[in-house]
Amino acid sequence: MSGWRTSGSSDPVFRGAVMKKTIEEINRKIAQKTAVVCTAAELKQRIARGETITAADVDVVTTGTFGVMSGTLAVLHIPVAPPGTFRKAEKVWLNGVPAIPGPCPNEGLGSVDVIVYGTAHASPTYGGGHLFRDLVEGNAVQVEVESDGKRFCHSVTLAEIPHARIITTRSAFKNYLAVVNTGSDPVKTIFAAEDLSGPYTGATVSGCGDINPVQNDPDLNVIGVGTRVLLNGGTGYITGTGTRATKEKPNIAAVADMKRMVPAMMGGFVTSAGPECTTSVAIPIPVLDDAILRNLRVTNNQIPLPVADVRDRVPFASATYADVWDGTDPVISFSRESCLQCDPCAAQAACPAGAIEPVQGINPARCVNCGTCVQTCAGNACTGTTGALMFDGRRVPIILRQSDRARALQLCEDLKNQILDGRFVLIEKTEDLL
Ligand code: SF4
Ligand code: SF4
Repeated sequence: MSGWRTSGSSDPVFRGAVMKKTIEEINRKIAQKTAVVCTAAELKQRIARGETITAADVDVVTTGTFGVMSGTLAVLHIPVAPPGTFRKAEKVWLNGVPAIPGPCPNEGLGSVDVIVYGTAHASPTYGGGHLFRDLVEGNAVQVEVESDGKRFCHSVTLAEIPHARIITTRSAFKNYLAVVNTGSDPVKTIFAAEDLSGPYTGATVSGCGDINPVQNDPDLNVIGVGTRVLLNGGTGYITGTGTRATKEKPNIAAVADMKRMVPAMMGGFVTSAGPECTTSVAIPIPVLDDAILRNLRVTNNQIPLPVADVRDRVPFASATYADVWDGTDPVISFSRESCLQCDPCAAQAACPAGAIEPVQGINPARCVNCGTCVQTCAGNACTGTTGALMFDGRRVPIILRQSDRARALQLCEDLKNQILDGRFVLIEKTEDLL
């Protein structure tokens, strides 16, 4: 990255005079194509190499996260039939996924307003998250409406839906959780692709570690209400903190138009307790002063990863995100030469993202690098080091990653490029989040 400078004070990493920039100044530099923008991973690599970096050297650092986020829903207004065809929708399904009609009844209009939960289920392998991705991919979706004892069906694409927004009720938690089973009986859970066995036979983890947005602005000094973000790859806005947010463990709520979203940055994820929803968030951190830059120094080994039992989710130990992301493989690989062509393919059956296709192997557009296939492959075709959690003198292998750091890195890169070429400008927050 060109344009980085060194200066001359005694702090080995952050030297130079205290300075303060404004978002307006940064936006001017973005317009003039002179802004210095880097991803959180690039910044940390340069600091790790011993480079001296001050707030004068970088204007924006892009952060991101991708993973299973249950608190995601869609608000849709869908034309179904000519006006007057039915009085009002009492029940609605989209590709079999139950939707909640209203709150506006649209009486006599032949259209429906619905709310669809990302966690709603049509079947054990298809849910709201799959539906959202189908819509964003441009696939036709079957709408069924029940009204006064009659059924009305219609096929619709996102292009024909005038209003389609995704809302997150909580996303991008600051250091999330690792989950283990401390008992002997397997547990059906949203935290595992297959029933989670025990005691301590495997851990499932969530969170992208030191590139997670909130981890890089832990007190939410710069991220606020109105901050422009990428939600599922499309431009969106932060609306506030989400449910269960606390000062110690905040998260954010956001909204964005589905028509701007990118299919690979969202989707469905099948767990042993049914389908869940994957969501992504990328947030630019404007480097207004050295205090903000100091927070951006955080590394995986400094971020605690609370470990909880799957039954009560109360943390009883702590590892760190270094166990998850340092020295492990963010991308899971496939070797055709090593594939035994089993019938059926155990890895394909267990894949929570439907990403394994016979003969072709792993489809990178769908794979979320969770590692399940590494555990289940009968041969040695699916490979990747997913690490182990170290706590209380134990070493518990990580059997499932519910967050995809490789995709989050790609999101950071995408956001960086959008800022560099002037497609994405920063906005001043209108209110503090906490
Ligand atoms: S890592 Fe394997 S199991 Fe997980 S999504 Fe990718 S192909 Fe499927
Ligand atoms: S289980 Fe592994 S080795 Fe067997 S077909 Fe599937 S990918 Fe190939």
